[in-house]
Amino acid sequence: VLLTRSLIILLACCMAIKLSLCFSSVPPSSLNALHVQGHFSFEGNEFAASDFGNQIHFLPSAVLHPKKVSDIAATIKHVWQMGPSSGLTVAARGHGHSLQGQAQAPQGIVINMEALSGQEMQVHKGKLPYVDVPAGELWINILHDCLKYGLAPKSWTDYLHLTVGGTLSNAGISGQAFRHGPQINNVHQLEVVTGKGEVVVCSEEKNADLFHAVLGGLGQFGIITRARISLEPAPQKVKWIRVLYSDFSTFANDQEYLISAENTFDYIEGLVIVNRTGLINNWRSSFNPEDPEQASQFVSDGRTLFCLELTKNFSPDEATKIDKEIKSLLSQLSYIPSTLFVTEVSYVEFLDRVHAAELKLRSKGFWELPHPWLNLLVPRSKIHSFAEGVFGNILTDTNNGPVLIYPVNKSKWDNRTSFVTPDEDIFYLVAFLPHVVPSSTENNGLQHFLSLNKRILNFCETARLGVKQYLPYYTTQEEWRAHYGPRWEVFVQRKSAYDPLAILAPGQRIFQKAI
Ligand code: FAD
Repeated sequence: VLLTRSLIILLACCMAIKLSLCFSSVPPSSLNALHVQGHFSFEGNEFAASDFGNQIHFLPSAVLHPKKVSDIAATIKHVWQMGPSSGLTVAARGHGHSLQGQAQAPQGIVINMEALSGQEMQVHKGKLPYVDVPAGELWINILHDCLKYGLAPKSWTDYLHLTVGGTLSNAGISGQAFRHGPQINNVHQLEVVTGKGEVVVCSEEKNADLFHAVLGGLGQFGIITRARISLEPAPQKVKWIRVLYSDFSTFANDQEYLISAENTFDYIEGLVIVNRTGLINNWRSSFNPEDPEQASQFVSDGRTLFCLELTKNFSPDEATKIDKEIKSLLSQLSYIPSTLFVTEVSYVEFLDRVHAAELKLRSKGFWELPHPWLNLLVPRSKIHSFAEGVFGNILTDTNNGPVLIYPVNKSKWDNRTSFVTPDEDIFYLVAFLPHVVPSSTENNGLQHFLSLNKRILNFCETARLGVKQYLPYYTTQEEWRAHYGPRWEVFVQRKSAYDPLAILAPGQRIFQKAI
């Protein structure tokens, strides 16, 4: 008994030491001694312990506001030289729009990447135009800068107030991905600071393994400090179209037809509407249909409806030609005929549409709420089972936020990057995007949505749908191993090559710093 007791006490002591080492903080004096052109802050760092998800809050012990890339390199090199026993970690923070603390570093150092965003963007015109940007730059600013040259990036996210480094660490998916692939497939070159503090320029031709590791790498292999992004001539205007379906198969067939057709739309997404009593009634509703009266006639009243969302880009002198093309494309679809809503907006208005809704929500104090989001990638062969099991069944209401669903072509994804997709030619992005209102009850509180997410995940697992999480969140390494499947070994090898002490992006909870 005595021996067992002593062993238990010894074990408890070891665990306590390990925990305290894991979360040991950095003495300000050691950082202040570093030669950086920016500065460290040791107080007032609450912003670095919060994110869009608003569920996880860990304070760092310091925040670096870098002025130069060398500030980031010097800081990481310092932590690297302290060795494994310091337990100290470093997280890059873009715009902090993660959902579960992924950009946080408990008691560690957070790097405020937006402090680097003031650096110059350089647009290169020519046959294959591109722009060089600091990774802390917001996509909306890149859009405005490129438009001065009549150019724009090709692949977007639905919301542009996110940083380049933040979306390239995930994937960056929107309605253009079926044609151009995600944002991680539209990058020519990166500058990266590795977990050893080395500054490395990488591309398909140079340090290709690091280049592919970092893209979709969840911040695990290095901090992206600059990116070279592929551009195309910018459209001026957009025809923005929504049509409705009452049958999922017809909706999905039309979506899949459109993403495979030659001369198709420029953006293809979709929304699920469950038991909605006012159709255009959520934060993606900045859509202003030509005939709003017609739109308001469509209430789902307990039924599930599917809304196909499309755009076609054009310049004003092509308006007639584009109308003809749209008519011809729409004539091949099987939506409910009286549900065609069309509007016309500028390219910027379309791309920045979610920000318009953000401003409205912010004014009501409805933006900084918990967001228990769940994003999934579902293989095409299983999307019907998924829809049957989830929409109108597990999910009985979509009033607390949109549910997006749209297919993409796997051929447009580069499988050398760290990103893992379902193993089929076509897979769907399905995004459940609720917010928790302050006056929430048992039926629309945080716990309700978290358990709904759990039910959806359990259903996918039990039915063996081969679903992958996008913006993944796991708490054990076993789950990460399952997420990466056969790619796990490569992921681990890359970690030991580029961040062997597991200093970087601890908020992803994949690796723990060796101690
Ligand atoms: P952060 O939250 O700051 O960081 C995310 C992760 O990347 C962290 O682990 C962080 O450490 C790491 N990181 C940040 N910067 C760097 C860097 N420079 N180098 C290395 N690692 C870094 N995603 C889509 O794909 N499509 C969408 O349409 C879409 N819409 C969204 C709409 C809203 C309203 C929100 C809140 C999110 C949306 N997202 C979408 C998700 C978004 O792409 C991710 O949450 C992204 O990480 C946010 O970027 P950020 O700059 O805020 O990154």
